[in-house]
Amino acid sequence: MRGSDVLGVGPARRGLTLSVSALTLLVFSCGRPENPGAAASRRPPIVLVLVDALRPDHLGCYGYRRPTSPVLDSLAASAALFANAVAVSSWTKPSIPSLFTSLYPSQHSVFEGSAHGDTPESDVLPDEAVTLAETLKERGYATAAFVNNLHLRPRFGLAQGFDRYEELSEPAPVMVQHLLAWLHGVSGPEARPFFAYIHVLDAHWPYTVSAAAAQAVGGDRQQIAPNAVDRSLRDAVNQGLVKLSPEALEGLIARYDAAIRSVDDALGELLAGLTAGSALDEMVVLVTADHGEEFLEHGLLGHGDALYEESLHVPLILRLPHREAAGRRIAARVTSLDVMPTLLELAGPSAGSAPSLEGKSLMRYLRRDAPPTDSATIAEVRHKSTSRQAISKDGWKLIRTVHRRPDAPPEIKLELYALADDAGERSDRAPVEPGTVRALLAGLEAWERDVATRSLRRGDRVRVDDETAAKLRALGYAH
Ligand SMILES: [Zn+2]
Repeated sequence: MRGSDVLGVGPARRGLTLSVSALTLLVFSCGRPENPGAAASRRPPIVLVLVDALRPDHLGCYGYRRPTSPVLDSLAASAALFANAVAVSSWTKPSIPSLFTSLYPSQHSVFEGSAHGDTPESDVLPDEAVTLAETLKERGYATAAFVNNLHLRPRFGLAQGFDRYEELSEPAPVMVQHLLAWLHGVSGPEARPFFAYIHVLDAHWPYTVSAAAAQAVGGDRQQIAPNAVDRSLRDAVNQGLVKLSPEALEGLIARYDAAIRSVDDALGELLAGLTAGSALDEMVVLVTADHGEEFLEHGLLGHGDALYEESLHVPLILRLPHREAAGRRIAARVTSLDVMPTLLELAGPSAGSAPSLEGKSLMRYLRRDAPPTDSATIAEVRHKSTSRQAISKDGWKLIRTVHRRPDAPPEIKLELYALADDAGERSDRAPVEPGTVRALLAGLEAWERDVATRSLRRGDRVRVDDETAAKLRALGYAH
Protein backbone atom coordinates (compact mmCIF):
# COMPACT_ATOMS: atom_id res chain seq x y z
CA MET A 1 0.00 0.00 0.00
CA ARG A 2 1.19 3.44 -0.71
CA GLY A 3 1.54 5.53 2.37
CA SER A 4 -0.33 8.31 0.61
CA ASP A 5 -3.48 6.29 1.08
CA VAL A 6 -3.06 6.74 4.78
CA LEU A 7 -3.64 10.42 4.30
CA GLY A 8 -6.18 10.17 1.56
CA VAL A 9 -3.88 12.38 -0.45
CA GLY A 10 -3.92 10.08 -3.42
CA PRO A 11 -1.02 8.61 -5.28
CA ALA A 12 1.88 10.68 -6.49
CA ARG A 13 0.82 12.67 -9.48
CA ARG A 14 2.34 13.26 -12.84
CA GLY A 15 5.36 15.49 -12.83
CA LEU A 16 6.88 14.24 -9.61
CA THR A 17 10.58 14.16 -10.37
CA LEU A 18 11.31 11.36 -7.96
CA SER A 19 9.14 8.32 -7.84
CA VAL A 20 7.60 7.46 -4.53
CA SER A 21 9.18 4.01 -4.57
CA ALA A 22 12.64 5.51 -5.16
CA LEU A 23 12.20 7.74 -2.15
CA THR A 24 11.03 4.81 -0.08
CA LEU A 25 14.20 2.91 -0.78
CA LEU A 26 16.63 5.76 -0.65
CA VAL A 27 15.34 7.88 2.16
CA PHE A 28 13.73 5.54 4.55
CA SER A 29 14.96 2.00 4.15
CA CYS A 30 17.38 2.71 6.99
CA GLY A 31 14.71 4.32 9.07
CA ARG A 32 12.75 1.33 10.38
CA PRO A 33 13.24 0.80 14.07
CA GLU A 34 14.86 -2.52 14.92
CA ASN A 35 13.41 -2.38 18.39
CA PRO A 36 11.32 0.08 20.39
CA GLY A 37 14.34 1.35 22.32
CA ALA A 38 16.11 2.32 19.11
CA ALA A 39 12.96 4.06 17.92
CA ALA A 40 12.76 6.09 21.09
CA SER A 41 16.33 7.29 20.84
CA ARG A 42 16.24 8.16 17.14
CA ARG A 43 15.62 11.76 16.16
CA PRO A 44 12.59 12.13 13.86
CA PRO A 45 12.87 13.84 10.48
CA ILE A 46 11.14 17.24 10.61
CA VAL A 47 9.37 19.09 7.81
CA LEU A 48 8.25 22.69 8.43
CA VAL A 49 5.75 23.87 5.83
CA LEU A 50 5.14 27.60 5.82
CA VAL A 51 2.41 28.96 3.57
CA ASP A 52 2.86 32.72 3.39
CA ALA A 53 -0.24 34.77 4.28
CA LEU A 54 -2.45 31.73 4.86
CA ARG A 55 -5.57 32.44 6.90
CA PRO A 56 -6.77 29.43 8.88
CA ASP A 57 -10.42 30.38 8.43
CA HIS A 58 -9.96 29.74 4.69
CA LEU A 59 -9.11 26.05 5.27
CA GLY A 60 -11.63 23.23 5.43
CA CYS A 61 -10.08 21.83 8.64
CA TYR A 62 -10.78 25.21 10.27
CA GLY A 63 -14.37 25.24 9.00
CA TYR A 64 -14.21 26.99 5.62
CA ARG A 65 -17.02 26.52 3.09
CA ARG A 66 -14.94 26.27 -0.11
CA PRO A 67 -12.87 23.18 -1.02
CA THR A 68 -9.55 24.98 -0.65
CA SER A 69 -7.62 22.36 1.30
CA PRO A 70 -8.40 18.65 0.88
CA VAL A 71 -4.75 17.70 1.44
CA LEU A 72 -4.32 19.80 4.58
CA ASP A 73 -7.70 18.58 5.83
CA SER A 74 -6.51 14.97 5.51
CA LEU A 75 -3.25 15.81 7.20
CA ALA A 76 -5.12 17.56 10.01
CA ALA A 77 -7.25 14.45 10.57
CA SER A 78 -4.10 12.56 11.57
CA ALA A 79 -2.60 15.50 13.45
CA ALA A 80 -3.13 17.88 16.34
CA LEU A 81 -4.68 21.18 15.31
CA PHE A 82 -4.30 24.45 17.21
CA ALA A 83 -7.48 26.41 16.64
CA ASN A 84 -6.21 29.72 18.03
CA ALA A 85 -2.61 30.11 16.95
CA VAL A 86 -1.36 33.64 16.32
CA ALA A 87 1.78 35.10 14.81
CA VAL A 88 3.77 37.77 16.66
CA SER A 89 3.71 40.14 13.71
CA SER A 90 1.59 40.72 10.64
CA TRP A 91 4.22 40.36 7.93
CA THR A 92 7.13 38.18 6.92
CA LYS A 93 10.08 40.38 7.80
CA PRO A 94 9.62 40.34 11.61
CA SER A 95 7.54 37.17 11.81
CA ILE A 96 9.94 34.61 10.32
CA PRO A 97 12.93 35.60 12.50
CA SER A 98 10.60 35.16 15.50
CA LEU A 99 9.55 31.72 14.27
CA PHE A 100 13.20 30.72 13.88
CA THR A 101 14.50 32.18 17.17
CA SER A 102 11.48 32.07 19.49
CA LEU A 103 12.20 35.73 20.25
CA TYR A 104 9.83 38.68 19.89
CA PRO A 105 10.56 41.23 17.14
CA SER A 106 11.60 43.72 19.86
CA GLN A 107 14.33 41.26 20.87
CA HIS A 108 15.77 40.44 17.43
CA SER A 109 15.07 43.94 16.02
CA VAL A 110 14.26 42.70 12.53
CA PHE A 111 11.36 45.01 11.68
CA GLU A 112 11.94 46.81 8.43
CA GLY A 113 12.70 45.81 4.87
CA SER A 114 10.64 47.84 2.52
CA ALA A 115 11.12 49.26 -0.93
CA HIS A 116 10.45 52.78 0.28
CA GLY A 117 12.56 55.76 -0.82
CA ASP A 118 15.72 56.09 -2.85
CA THR A 119 17.92 53.99 -0.58
CA PRO A 120 15.75 51.19 0.73
CA GLU A 121 17.34 49.21 3.55
CA SER A 122 16.58 45.94 5.24
CA ASP A 123 17.25 44.72 8.79
CA VAL A 124 19.48 41.66 9.17
CA LEU A 125 19.11 38.96 11.80
CA PRO A 126 22.42 39.13 13.70
CA ASP A 127 24.82 36.17 13.86
CA GLU A 128 24.39 36.23 17.62
CA ALA A 129 20.87 34.83 17.16
CA VAL A 130 20.58 31.09 17.80
CA THR A 131 18.18 29.73 15.22
CA LEU A 132 16.07 26.60 15.04
CA ALA A 133 18.15 25.38 12.09
CA GLU A 134 21.43 25.96 13.94
CA THR A 135 20.17 24.09 16.97
CA LEU A 136 18.92 21.14 14.93
CA LYS A 137 22.17 21.04 12.98
CA GLU A 138 24.03 20.86 16.29
CA ARG A 139 21.90 17.84 17.17
CA GLY A 140 23.00 16.06 14.02
CA TYR A 141 20.34 17.08 11.53
CA ALA A 142 20.94 17.68 7.84
CA THR A 143 19.20 21.03 7.24
CA ALA A 144 17.74 22.65 4.13
CA ALA A 145 15.46 25.57 3.28
CA PHE A 146 13.52 26.21 0.08
CA VAL A 147 12.10 29.70 0.34
CA ASN A 148 10.17 31.98 -1.96
CA ASN A 149 10.08 35.41 -0.33
CA LEU A 150 12.42 38.34 -0.92
CA HIS A 151 12.52 39.08 2.82
CA LEU A 152 14.25 35.76 3.28
CA ARG A 153 17.25 36.44 1.05
CA PRO A 154 20.34 34.75 2.53
CA ARG A 155 22.01 38.12 3.20
CA PHE A 156 19.23 39.03 5.63
CA GLY A 157 20.52 36.46 8.14
CA LEU A 158 17.91 33.72 7.93
CA ALA A 159 20.23 31.16 6.31
CA GLN A 160 22.02 30.57 9.63
CA GLY A 161 22.21 26.85 10.36
CA PHE A 162 21.11 25.59 6.97
CA ASP A 163 23.43 23.24 5.04
CA ARG A 164 21.48 24.18 1.97
CA TYR A 165 19.48 27.40 1.49
CA GLU A 166 17.69 27.84 -1.83
CA GLU A 167 15.89 31.10 -2.51
CA LEU A 168 13.62 30.53 -5.48
CA SER A 169 11.02 32.64 -7.27
CA GLU A 170 8.92 29.64 -8.15
CA PRO A 171 5.37 28.47 -7.53
CA ALA A 172 4.74 25.85 -4.87
CA PRO A 173 4.89 22.75 -7.12
CA VAL A 174 8.44 23.66 -8.22
CA MET A 175 9.51 24.38 -4.64
CA VAL A 176 8.26 20.94 -3.65
CA GLN A 177 10.33 19.31 -6.39
CA HIS A 178 13.45 21.06 -5.12
CA LEU A 179 12.82 19.81 -1.61
CA LEU A 180 12.24 16.23 -2.77
CA ALA A 181 15.37 16.34 -4.94
CA TRP A 182 17.42 17.48 -1.93
CA LEU A 183 15.96 14.67 0.18
CA HIS A 184 17.01 12.24 -2.49
CA GLY A 185 20.55 13.58 -2.27
CA VAL A 186 20.91 13.35 1.52
CA SER A 187 19.35 9.93 1.93
CA GLY A 188 21.10 6.60 2.29
CA PRO A 189 21.87 3.90 4.80
CA GLU A 190 24.00 6.20 6.97
CA ALA A 191 21.77 9.24 6.52
CA ARG A 192 21.38 11.76 9.30
CA PRO A 193 17.87 12.88 10.29
CA PHE A 194 16.77 15.86 8.23
CA PHE A 195 15.08 19.18 8.84
CA ALA A 196 13.46 20.70 5.74
CA TYR A 197 11.79 24.13 5.69
CA ILE A 198 9.67 25.02 2.69
CA HIS A 199 8.18 28.53 2.40
CA VAL A 200 5.74 29.04 -0.45
CA LEU A 201 4.40 32.40 -1.63
CA ASP A 202 1.45 31.47 -3.85
CA ALA A 203 -1.23 32.65 -1.39
CA HIS A 204 0.50 36.04 -1.07
CA TRP A 205 -0.73 39.05 -3.02
CA PRO A 206 -1.31 39.07 -6.02
CA TYR A 207 -2.18 35.37 -5.50
CA THR A 208 -0.71 32.76 -7.84
CA VAL A 209 -3.42 30.48 -9.17
CA SER A 210 -3.22 27.33 -11.27
CA ALA A 211 -6.06 26.68 -13.71
CA ALA A 212 -6.91 23.40 -11.98
CA ALA A 213 -7.15 25.11 -8.61
CA ALA A 214 -9.37 27.86 -9.98
CA GLN A 215 -11.75 25.24 -11.27
CA ALA A 216 -11.62 23.24 -8.04
CA VAL A 217 -12.77 26.09 -5.80
CA GLY A 218 -15.59 26.97 -8.20
CA GLY A 219 -14.99 30.69 -8.37
CA ASP A 220 -15.72 32.97 -11.28
CA ARG A 221 -13.18 31.96 -13.92
CA GLN A 222 -12.72 35.52 -15.10
CA GLN A 223 -12.04 36.88 -11.64
CA ILE A 224 -9.54 34.23 -10.68
CA ALA A 225 -7.83 33.82 -14.02
CA PRO A 226 -4.05 34.36 -14.01
CA ASN A 227 -3.11 38.05 -14.31
CA ALA A 228 -6.67 39.17 -13.55
CA VAL A 229 -5.43 41.37 -10.72
CA ASP A 230 -3.81 44.72 -11.27
CA ARG A 231 -0.81 44.62 -8.91
CA SER A 232 -1.25 48.28 -7.97
CA LEU A 233 -4.83 47.72 -6.83
CA ARG A 234 -3.87 46.91 -3.25
CA ASP A 235 -1.99 50.18 -2.73
CA ALA A 236 -4.73 52.19 -4.44
CA VAL A 237 -7.37 50.69 -2.15
CA ASN A 238 -5.25 51.12 0.99
CA GLN A 239 -4.56 54.76 0.13
CA GLY A 240 -8.27 55.39 -0.34
CA LEU A 241 -7.88 56.13 -4.06
CA VAL A 242 -10.09 53.25 -5.15
CA LYS A 243 -13.20 51.88 -3.51
CA LEU A 244 -13.68 48.19 -4.10
CA SER A 245 -17.20 47.01 -4.92
CA PRO A 246 -18.58 44.01 -2.97
CA GLU A 247 -18.36 41.97 -6.20
CA ALA A 248 -14.73 42.93 -6.75
CA LEU A 249 -13.91 42.02 -3.15
CA GLU A 250 -15.61 38.66 -3.59
CA GLY A 251 -13.55 38.13 -6.73
CA LEU A 252 -10.32 38.84 -4.84
CA ILE A 253 -11.28 36.43 -2.08
CA ALA A 254 -12.11 33.75 -4.64
CA ARG A 255 -8.71 34.29 -6.18
CA TYR A 256 -7.03 34.00 -2.77
CA ASP A 257 -8.95 30.77 -2.17
CA ALA A 258 -7.85 29.37 -5.51
CA ALA A 259 -4.26 30.25 -4.63
CA ILE A 260 -4.62 28.30 -1.39
CA ARG A 261 -5.92 25.37 -3.41
CA SER A 262 -2.88 25.63 -5.69
CA VAL A 263 -0.63 25.35 -2.63
CA ASP A 264 -2.72 22.49 -1.28
CA ASP A 265 -2.31 20.58 -4.55
CA ALA A 266 1.46 21.05 -4.32
CA LEU A 267 1.47 19.89 -0.71
CA GLY A 268 -0.25 16.75 -1.96
CA GLU A 269 2.87 16.10 -4.05
CA LEU A 270 5.09 16.79 -1.08
CA LEU A 271 3.19 14.50 1.26
CA ALA A 272 2.98 11.79 -1.36
CA GLY A 273 6.77 11.90 -1.55
CA LEU A 274 7.22 11.95 2.22
CA THR A 275 4.56 9.33 2.82
CA ALA A 276 6.28 6.74 0.71
CA GLY A 277 6.50 3.41 2.50
CA SER A 278 4.69 4.90 5.49
CA ALA A 279 7.81 6.89 6.26
CA LEU A 280 5.63 9.85 7.20
CA ASP A 281 4.76 7.82 10.24
CA GLU A 282 8.25 8.45 11.62
CA MET A 283 8.17 12.15 10.85
CA VAL A 284 7.14 15.44 12.37
CA VAL A 285 5.27 17.69 9.92
CA LEU A 286 4.29 21.16 11.08
CA VAL A 287 2.21 23.40 8.82
CA THR A 288 1.75 27.07 9.64
CA ALA A 289 1.87 30.62 8.23
CA ASP A 290 3.81 33.78 9.02
CA HIS A 291 0.64 35.92 9.27
CA GLY A 292 -2.87 36.18 7.85
CA GLU A 293 -4.41 38.43 5.21
CA GLU A 294 -6.91 41.30 5.31
CA PHE A 295 -9.92 41.65 3.04
CA LEU A 296 -11.22 45.07 4.10
CA GLU A 297 -12.37 43.87 7.54
CA HIS A 298 -10.75 47.05 8.86
CA GLY A 299 -10.48 48.99 5.62
CA LEU A 300 -7.26 47.46 4.26
CA LEU A 301 -6.16 44.78 1.82
CA GLY A 302 -3.09 42.61 2.36
CA HIS A 303 -1.07 42.63 5.58
CA GLY A 304 1.83 44.23 7.39
CA ASP A 305 0.40 47.39 8.97
CA ALA A 306 -2.49 46.40 11.20
CA LEU A 307 -2.58 43.92 14.10
CA TYR A 308 -6.21 42.84 13.93
CA GLU A 309 -6.99 39.15 14.23
CA GLU A 310 -7.32 38.56 10.47
CA SER A 311 -3.64 39.53 10.20
CA LEU A 312 -2.46 37.51 13.17
CA HIS A 313 -4.36 34.23 13.14
CA VAL A 314 -2.37 31.42 11.51
CA PRO A 315 -3.03 27.73 10.99
CA LEU A 316 -0.97 25.39 13.13
CA ILE A 317 -1.20 21.72 12.28
CA LEU A 318 1.23 19.35 14.00
CA ARG A 319 1.53 15.84 12.59
CA LEU A 320 3.50 13.72 15.05
CA PRO A 321 5.22 10.36 14.58
CA HIS A 322 2.89 7.37 14.85
CA ARG A 323 -0.09 9.71 14.74
CA GLU A 324 0.37 10.69 18.33
CA ALA A 325 -2.38 13.12 19.35
CA ALA A 326 -4.26 12.58 16.07
CA GLY A 327 -7.56 14.42 16.10
CA ARG A 328 -6.70 16.57 19.12
CA ARG A 329 -8.05 20.12 18.83
CA ILE A 330 -6.47 22.66 21.13
CA ALA A 331 -8.40 25.87 21.77
CA ALA A 332 -5.77 27.70 23.84
CA ARG A 333 -4.28 30.83 22.28
CA VAL A 334 -0.71 29.87 21.33
CA THR A 335 1.87 31.75 19.30
CA SER A 336 4.43 31.09 16.59
CA LEU A 337 7.10 31.53 19.29
CA ASP A 338 6.04 28.06 20.47
CA VAL A 339 7.08 26.37 17.21
CA MET A 340 10.84 26.29 17.91
CA PRO A 341 10.58 24.85 21.45
CA THR A 342 8.07 22.28 20.16
CA LEU A 343 10.33 21.06 17.39
CA LEU A 344 13.37 21.02 19.70
CA GLU A 345 11.49 18.90 22.23
CA LEU A 346 10.51 16.49 19.47
CA ALA A 347 14.06 16.40 18.10
CA GLY A 348 15.30 15.12 21.45
CA PRO A 349 17.86 16.33 23.94
CA SER A 350 21.14 18.00 23.14
CA ALA A 351 24.49 17.82 24.88
CA GLY A 352 24.93 21.58 24.40
CA SER A 353 23.24 24.38 26.29
CA ALA A 354 19.66 25.20 25.35
CA PRO A 355 19.06 28.57 23.67
CA SER A 356 16.97 31.14 25.52
CA LEU A 357 13.43 30.90 24.13
CA GLU A 358 10.35 33.02 24.79
CA GLY A 359 7.89 30.36 23.58
CA LYS A 360 6.95 27.08 25.22
CA SER A 361 6.62 23.66 23.65
CA LEU A 362 3.13 22.89 22.39
CA MET A 363 3.66 19.36 23.65
CA ARG A 364 2.57 20.73 27.02
CA TYR A 365 -0.99 20.40 25.71
CA LEU A 366 -0.49 17.04 24.02
CA ARG A 367 1.63 15.14 26.54
CA ARG A 368 1.43 17.03 29.80
CA ASP A 369 -2.17 18.13 30.07
CA ALA A 370 -1.41 21.82 30.53
CA PRO A 371 -4.45 23.95 31.32
CA PRO A 372 -5.56 26.49 28.70
CA THR A 373 -3.15 29.36 29.06
CA ASP A 374 -4.20 32.77 30.26
CA SER A 375 -0.78 34.31 29.71
CA ALA A 376 -0.63 37.35 27.46
CA THR A 377 0.17 37.17 23.76
CA ILE A 378 1.97 40.06 22.10
CA ALA A 379 2.27 41.18 18.47
CA GLU A 380 4.32 43.99 16.97
CA VAL A 381 5.00 45.93 13.78
CA ARG A 382 7.35 48.88 13.38
CA HIS A 383 7.62 51.02 10.27
CA LYS A 384 9.40 54.29 9.63
CA SER A 385 6.98 56.59 11.41
CA THR A 386 4.54 54.21 13.03
CA SER A 387 4.92 51.48 15.66
CA ARG A 388 2.08 49.26 16.72
CA GLN A 389 1.83 46.67 19.48
CA ALA A 390 -1.04 44.46 20.60
CA ILE A 391 -1.47 42.61 23.87
CA SER A 392 -4.18 39.99 24.36
CA LYS A 393 -5.11 38.54 27.71
CA ASP A 394 -8.18 36.99 29.29
CA GLY A 395 -10.31 37.63 26.21
CA TRP A 396 -9.32 41.31 25.90
CA LYS A 397 -7.02 42.85 23.33
CA LEU A 398 -5.39 46.26 23.45
CA ILE A 399 -3.74 47.78 20.36
CA ARG A 400 -1.39 50.72 20.91
CA THR A 401 -0.38 52.75 17.86
CA VAL A 402 2.39 55.34 18.10
CA HIS A 403 2.81 57.81 15.22
CA ARG A 404 6.11 59.63 15.45
CA ARG A 405 6.03 63.21 14.12
CA PRO A 406 9.03 65.38 13.21
CA ASP A 407 8.34 68.44 15.35
CA ALA A 408 5.74 67.28 17.81
CA PRO A 409 5.29 64.66 20.50
CA PRO A 410 4.22 61.25 19.19
CA GLU A 411 0.54 60.71 18.67
CA ILE A 412 -0.72 57.66 20.58
CA LYS A 413 -3.91 55.79 19.83
CA LEU A 414 -5.35 53.01 22.00
CA GLU A 415 -8.03 50.54 20.90
CA LEU A 416 -9.63 47.89 23.10
CA TYR A 417 -11.62 44.88 21.95
CA ALA A 418 -13.49 42.17 23.81
CA LEU A 419 -12.46 39.20 21.67
CA ALA A 420 -14.83 36.81 23.42
CA ASP A 421 -17.96 38.54 22.11
CA ASP A 422 -16.49 40.74 19.39
CA ALA A 423 -14.12 38.44 17.50
CA GLY A 424 -14.24 40.77 14.49
CA GLU A 425 -12.93 43.70 16.57
CA ARG A 426 -15.74 45.98 15.43
CA SER A 427 -16.45 47.87 18.61
CA ASP A 428 -13.65 49.86 20.27
CA ARG A 429 -14.31 49.64 24.01
CA ALA A 430 -11.40 51.84 25.10
CA PRO A 431 -13.60 54.87 25.91
CA VAL A 432 -15.87 52.86 28.22
CA GLU A 433 -13.35 50.47 29.84
CA PRO A 434 -10.56 52.74 31.13
CA GLY A 435 -9.59 50.29 33.91
CA THR A 436 -9.06 47.44 31.43
CA VAL A 437 -7.04 49.74 29.18
CA ARG A 438 -4.82 50.75 32.11
CA ALA A 439 -4.28 47.14 33.18
CA LEU A 440 -3.35 45.96 29.68
CA LEU A 441 -1.12 48.96 29.09
CA ALA A 442 0.70 48.20 32.35
CA GLY A 443 1.06 44.58 31.17
CA LEU A 444 2.48 45.74 27.85
CA GLU A 445 4.99 48.05 29.54
CA ALA A 446 6.04 45.34 32.00
CA TRP A 447 6.54 42.95 29.09
CA GLU A 448 8.68 45.56 27.26
CA ARG A 449 10.95 45.96 30.28
CA ASP A 450 11.18 42.21 30.76
CA VAL A 451 12.09 41.20 27.20
CA ALA A 452 14.55 44.09 26.90
CA THR A 453 16.75 42.19 29.37
CA ARG A 454 16.98 39.30 26.91
CA SER A 455 17.40 41.14 23.61
CA LEU A 456 20.02 40.58 20.94
CA ARG A 457 22.39 43.32 19.89
CA ARG A 458 20.77 45.08 16.94
CA GLY A 459 21.97 43.57 13.67
CA ASP A 460 23.14 45.37 10.56
CA ARG A 461 20.97 47.09 8.02
CA VAL A 462 21.83 46.42 4.42
CA ARG A 463 20.99 48.33 1.28
CA VAL A 464 18.32 46.63 -0.81
CA ASP A 465 19.45 46.37 -4.42
CA ASP A 466 17.32 47.96 -7.14
CA GLU A 467 16.04 44.68 -8.52
CA THR A 468 14.90 43.44 -5.09
CA ALA A 469 13.31 46.82 -4.35
CA ALA A 470 11.32 46.69 -7.59
CA LYS A 471 10.11 43.19 -6.80
CA LEU A 472 9.19 44.20 -3.25
CA ARG A 473 7.11 47.08 -4.59
CA ALA A 474 5.28 44.63 -6.87
CA LEU A 475 4.41 42.54 -3.81
CA GLY A 476 3.05 45.62 -2.05
CA TYR A 477 5.95 46.41 0.31
CA ALA A 478 6.39 50.15 0.07
CA HIS A 479 5.83 51.32 3.59
ZN1 LIG B 1 4.57 36.75 4.70
